[in-house]
Amino acid sequence: MKYTLQINTGSFDILKVYDINDVLDRLNYAFSVIDVDRVILGWNNCVDINKTIIDLCAKNNTEVFLWLPVFADVRRIDKSDKLVFLNENNDSSISVVEGENFEFICPNSEANIDEVIETYKYLSTQCHFDGVFLDRIRYASMANGFDSLLGCYCDKCLDVYKNNNINIDNLKTKTIEDFIPCGMNNGLYDFADEDINKLFTIKRNIVLDSVNELIDRFHALDLKVGLDVFAPAISDYVGQDVSSLAKKADFVKPMMYSVTNAPAGIPFELNALGEDIKNKINELWGCDISSPEGFIKQIENLKGNIVPGVEVNKLDICNASEEYLEQCIKTGVSLGLKGMVLSWDSLHADKTMFEVAGKYNG
Ligand SMILES: [Zn+2]
Repeated sequence: MKYTLQINTGSFDILKVYDINDVLDRLNYAFSVIDVDRVILGWNNCVDINKTIIDLCAKNNTEVFLWLPVFADVRRIDKSDKLVFLNENNDSSISVVEGENFEFICPNSEANIDEVIETYKYLSTQCHFDGVFLDRIRYASMANGFDSLLGCYCDKCLDVYKNNNINIDNLKTKTIEDFIPCGMNNGLYDFADEDINKLFTIKRNIVLDSVNELIDRFHALDLKVGLDVFAPAISDYVGQDVSSLAKKADFVKPMMYSVTNAPAGIPFELNALGEDIKNKINELWGCDISSPEGFIKQIENLKGNIVPGVEVNKLDICNASEEYLEQCIKTGVSLGLKGMVLSWDSLHADKTMFEVAGKYNG
């Protein structure tokens, strides 16, 4: 197993790394005990710390990817096309992680795509990156509130719905019960209501088209592109068709977070979707999707360079243990995976976690 270290230096406003010697100590230890082939770093613009980490990675023949938020927690919300809710609820942000509010913008906007490139330029003026790692390439989830499931209703998105003959008045009458799937095809859900099926298809296509455009534009800048996506069993609720997204990307990291009680954590998102949807999802996948068996079933049929992410943090909102990490890595080994990402912040992981990962080097 080769490992990617995901390193969270903070958001645009809040630097979460205080002591460069501590950073070097932890990273040197990680490099000494585990096979690291990639580092994901972001997204505070702390040039000294970024450069120090990049230099250390160069000495260890490790690629560095710049972690970039795409459709939420963006750098300049005032330059972005906002997301418009169907039912005029405008406060759906969540505060679980300091400096990140999960306030989403419209994924169907050229201006918002341009702004991602601008943000890359802003963060890379004095630092060289081998690639970018695109995060928040999705719609808000049910954790942001029910309206988030219904997508965006800006003028551009309304045009798309019109062209696809969606009955918006019908969507306005929907409740969470209407989003209990009645079937599943290649990991994508079917619903009894035809307008919901059309809406889910459009959301998938909008995210895919925008992400593919970003991949093309970053490839043209000679940068590799990695993608952060939800665990496949819950990704369809945020507009992510993981199989399709994996086609163009250099790697895709499904967040197989079974102990994260924050956005993208499987228990957190299932709790927001509610007991009925959770039970139906587990029934359709034939297992508890938070279990090791669920990990296997969600990953085994994916094509492309799939590098699942597992947690290594011990926090109140993320209680990863050595036993949990070892179970996840063993599951990855049984799937024949060549790599996994130690998320979501290797810089704040105990050294014992690196020792566990090191047992499966190679
Ligand atoms: Zn829109």
